[in-house]
Parts: sequence; structure tokens; C-alpha cells
Amino acid sequence: MTAELRSDLDAIPAYVPGRSVPGAIKLASNESPGGPLPGVVEAITAAAAGVSRYPDNAAVALTSVIAEKIGVPAANVVAGCGSVALCQQLVQITCAAGDEVVFSWRSFEAYPVVTRVAGATPVPVPNTAEHGHDLDAMAAAIGERTRLVFVCTPNNPTGTTISATEIGKFLDKVPERVLVVVDEAYVEYGDADDPDRVDGISLAMERPNVITLRTFSKAYALAGVRVGYAVGNSAAIVALRKVSIPFSVNAAAQAAAIAALGAADVMRERAAVVVAERERVTGLLREAGYAVPSSRGNFVWLPLGEDTAAFTADAADNGLLVRGYGTDGVRVTIGHADENDALIAFARTRAAARAV
Ligand SMILES: *Cc1c(COP(=O)(O)O)cnc(C)c1O
Repeated sequence: MTAELRSDLDAIPAYVPGRSVPGAIKLASNESPGGPLPGVVEAITAAAAGVSRYPDNAAVALTSVIAEKIGVPAANVVAGCGSVALCQQLVQITCAAGDEVVFSWRSFEAYPVVTRVAGATPVPVPNTAEHGHDLDAMAAAIGERTRLVFVCTPNNPTGTTISATEIGKFLDKVPERVLVVVDEAYVEYGDADDPDRVDGISLAMERPNVITLRTFSKAYALAGVRVGYAVGNSAAIVALRKVSIPFSVNAAAQAAAIAALGAADVMRERAAVVVAERERVTGLLREAGYAVPSSRGNFVWLPLGEDTAAFTADAADNGLLVRGYGTDGVRVTIGHADENDALIAFARTRAAARAV
């Protein structure tokens, strides 16, 4: 007889490994092209000499470097084993069994999973016809049992953003007892000149019920070592530390993140190249007939509906790994120019074949 497991876990899909195609171009996981930033491999190598010891559980050095960079006290920052771990911890510090977590859908795939793992109930609110968050509907979905709202801007996988004005109005409607998490995983690819751009750090410092998440996995090119951080009021930060798995931000990750922050100039140069490529790819895909919404991430969204699975499979047959989402659409990560060219060539050929 097998042991009795939590039956509510049946609602969480079992992990299915992605298709691996040797030699394929990988545009499926929003990773940065170009490898680790300068100094990162050296920092990890140096940290390797110390791995017989436990890491610093509070990641004090990393936390203070982050705090200085973003201009907040260290007491308002906590590092996590990727920001996805912090998503789970945020549900854990707010929700008991049966409490509700509101988020837009489609959005980051981890939101419903971490919600269920904590025994809470996901309340997905459909995206607008323009693939963005429907903030009015999200505010209306907040009920007595709502404890947490995830807001993802730019939204993964659709690339849409929320303006500072829009998020301000939304936050004014949310009861202060409800925690709002602003997930800024792609903030480095945003438009720095946009005067109505969301500043998640300021929001988190000004509003006691806002926590902002950032990650080293995307623009900082550290997806493999797992580091992210949360910024917000110190009581929530203390709670997040309580529920974290001890020592889960490992020594190599802490050293790598400090080194990556030291190479922020190179990060910004690389992000600018990705942004230029994103705009080029968006334009060419639109010319080929795809209704691609404007993206502020390092990826673009093809709302392909029923064609999603076939497009994803055909792309893989052509050596291109992209991410399909049910019958909603396909997310394509922006890679090097030649990789993006291969994607465009495939997308053009396929659009032409289907138009016949
Ligand atoms: C990639 C991503 C994250 C976090 O990734 P980690 O690797 O766990 O830091 C968080 N939120 C969104 C929306 C993402 O796309």
C-alpha cells in the first residue's frame, strides 16, 4: 500500500520535461543570450573552494549590495532561491487553507501552483482582449478570503505592461489587509524613458501592502544558480525569512549575484540589444500576419489560439524550441539576431503555407 498523500495536490499538474532536440535553438525559457556576465564564473569558482561550509543563511553581503543598488534599507530586502521561491513564501505568509489568491490569467505559470502547494485557492481573472491584466475585474474578484494578489508587469507570457497611473488606481481600490505582489522579473527590458512607468521599488516602500519581486534569472543571466529578491515592509520581510527553506540561497548563488550586480553596465548594454531585437522581431512578425502585442519583456507573444500546439511542434521539427500555452498562444524568447532570424523565417513560411 502506498502512503496517503494530500489529495488536493491532484489539482497540480505533474511535471512534464520539455522536449529536448539536440542542436535546437532554445527560445523557450526567457534566458539571456550571451552567457554569464563578466566576473560571474570567477566568483562562482572562488565560492566553490568554500562549499564544505554552509552558506550565510541571511545572505547578508548580497542583501546589503542589493539594498544599496536600489536605494532602500537592508531590512526591506530578502533574497530567495529564485523569485519563484519567494512567490511560494508570499503565499505561505499570507494564506491558510481555503484563503484566496487573485492573479491575471494567463500569467506566470507558477502562481496557481504555489497557491495550491500552500493549500490556498487560486482565483484566476481572464486577461483583457489586448492580453493584459484586467485590473477592474481583478479588484472586483477580491473577496473576504482574498489574502494575496499577484500583479505581473511586464506580464509573462504576453509582454503587456501596466502603467504607474493604472497600478496606483488599482492599489487605491485594494483593501490594505490584502498583500499585492508586483512581479518585475523583466523590469530591465522596460522603457526607462516612459514617464508613466511602474517603479515597483518605490511602490513597495510607500505602500505597506505592496511587495515587489525581482530576479537575477533574466537580464542578469543567472537562471542556473537561482537567486531573486523581494522588497517591501520589514514585517513582511521578517515573515518571508521565517518560511524560507534554511540555506536555500547557496554560496555560489550569493557570490554570483554580487558579481552580476558589479557588471550592471554590461547587463544594461546586453538588455538594450535584446530590446532592439524584440522591436525588430515584433515588426517582422506583424508584417507576416501575426497579431503580436507590444512587449516590454525579453520575449514576444503570438496569440495563436487552437494553432498553438501545432505551431510549437512544427517549430521543434524545424530546430526551434518555443513555449506553447494550451490553446492561448506561443511565447518566443528573444535570442541572438541569427536565432531570431531563424524564428522569423519559420514563422513566415508557416504563415504563407496556412494562407494558401
Ligand atoms: C522567470 C520569472 C520569475 C522568476 O524566476 P526565478 O528564476 O525563480 O527567479 C518570476 N516571475 C516571472 C513572471 C518570471 O517570468
